[in-house]
Amino acid sequence: MEQRTINQTKISLIQGDITRQDTDAIVNAANPSLMGGGGVDGAIHRAGGRAILEQCKEIVSKQGRLPTGKAVITSGGNLKAKYVIHTVGPIWQGGTKSEAELLTSAYQQSLKLATEHNLESISFPSISTGAYGYPVEEAAQVAIKAVVSFLRKEATSIKEVVFVLFDSRTYEYYRSALEEISEEYNAEKSAI
Ligand code: ADP
Repeated sequence: MEQRTINQTKISLIQGDITRQDTDAIVNAANPSLMGGGGVDGAIHRAGGRAILEQCKEIVSKQGRLPTGKAVITSGGNLKAKYVIHTVGPIWQGGTKSEAELLTSAYQQSLKLATEHNLESISFPSISTGAYGYPVEEAAQVAIKAVVSFLRKEATSIKEVVFVLFDSRTYEYYRSALEEISEEYNAEKSAI
């Protein structure tokens, strides 16, 4: 396990299955229909049960499909986590279609929603790097930067952010991104 602290919030990385996390919320890499799907989305709906899908349906009937980069919250159903935050990452289209901005937004809108609900801990999967095809090395940099810059700028109830990476290759890319970005952060801090 790898760990860093930014403004009193701990960022940790683990290799594992996000459906087993007991943080206040887990984040789902959903698609705009919010009707479930493959990958982490399917795993969360399978483990969490019908209640999550029912709430997703209600959200879509009220506000329509969820745009890329936005986030909504439901209960955690049968999961250990009390809430699931559903966000939609970008589909990789070569890097020139605002993918990095949209991925940053998916992480930061999720953190904002968790803060509005006064949550203290949240787990993220590696959004967009499965079926959506975002190269993991780049996505890891964007993901860590998005979280670190949110924690530096915003007042938040969140005390712990956990990245739950499914495979060792993904874990390694996130580990180097966290090392690199937190070193930059510490260098800046000690220069002040
Ligand atoms: P996307 O459509 O956003 O690319 P995917 O679910 O296809 O989402 O993949 C995102 C990442 O989630 C991939 O790294 C995949 O290996 C990982 N993943 C799949 N199942 C789980 C799980 N149960 N817990 C954590 N990560 C998972």
